[in-house]
Amino acid sequence: MPEPARLTSRPRVLSGMRPTGKLHLGNYMGALANWVKLQDSGQYECYFFIADLHALTTDYADTSQIAPHAMEVALDFLAGGLDPEKCTIFVQSQVKQHFELPLYLGMITPLGWLERVPSYKEQQENIANKDLTNFGFLGYPVLMASDILLYQADFVPVGQDQQAHVEITREIARRFNQFYTLNGTEVLPEPRVLLTTSPKLPGTDGRKMSKSYGNTIELTDPEPVVRQKLKTMVTDPARIRRTDPGDPDKCPVGDLHKVFSTPETMGQVYEGCRTAGIGCIQCKGWAADALVQILEPIQARRASLTEARVVEILKDGNRRAAIRAEVTMEQVRAAMKLAT
Ligand code: SF4
Repeated sequence: MPEPARLTSRPRVLSGMRPTGKLHLGNYMGALANWVKLQDSGQYECYFFIADLHALTTDYADTSQIAPHAMEVALDFLAGGLDPEKCTIFVQSQVKQHFELPLYLGMITPLGWLERVPSYKEQQENIANKDLTNFGFLGYPVLMASDILLYQADFVPVGQDQQAHVEITREIARRFNQFYTLNGTEVLPEPRVLLTTSPKLPGTDGRKMSKSYGNTIELTDPEPVVRQKLKTMVTDPARIRRTDPGDPDKCPVGDLHKVFSTPETMGQVYEGCRTAGIGCIQCKGWAADALVQILEPIQARRASLTEARVVEILKDGNRRAAIRAEVTMEQVRAAMKLAT
């Protein structure tokens, strides 16, 4: 397959997050920590963005929280370890090419492709308090495909459950390339999935940690709050009395230990829980110790940042992202034989 023009020789990686407010440990372990690893590896040219246009697809009726939430996410991106010297961090709506490419790709995307995206029907049924019969929500996969294709990204780091999203991006790129080429060269490369492993991270009620369940531990939670949340966390239901043995493999606190605790602590948890040698309060205290250790450097970095500095970083990121996006758009417009 012919290679489109590139700015650098490193493979490009792109990923984004919706501005839903302060990030929690589930966001961190499921995405941000992996992004930091990719950035630090030096193998990739990384672009990470705040997907505020995506927030509009569902939150169009009340947009008042989108900008403040975007600022919180930016603070957490930087606190979590993204380094503007090593990657480009930007806000989707501030890079105007994100408005242009979806229009072109929307013209070539069959409606049936959009209607069959699993999350389309699922979310329409599950989000009862919002009317999602809007054009923007149906077209969300086109917006997402544009985000990726705008940077001619080689890889998109996603978990197993999000592979379908990358697949539709590949289909849209293929369709574009069938219609249009630039001097016989394909303009939009099909991105590949960079599968990331995200550990099972339960919230305080034992379900998956998620803002919509109200069971999160936030990256900004101070130590007493973390300890209090852990205290109320559900445990192995078989351990009703202190003298009942339990099983860390059936306990959400055990799952937290598996992700954050040292092998020594894990050993003590298995031994103590299965023999009723330790109580759940003690075990939760150890889990809280491990969480506090993870959160401490993140919170220290956040405390060293000012909003003015974040705005400066984002402005520079927006500028750099726009330069890269325009390289693609020039090729796209030329391939489509649009006036330049
Ligand atoms: S001792 Fe720990 S792992 Fe065992 S049930 Fe209690 S909290 Fe869960």
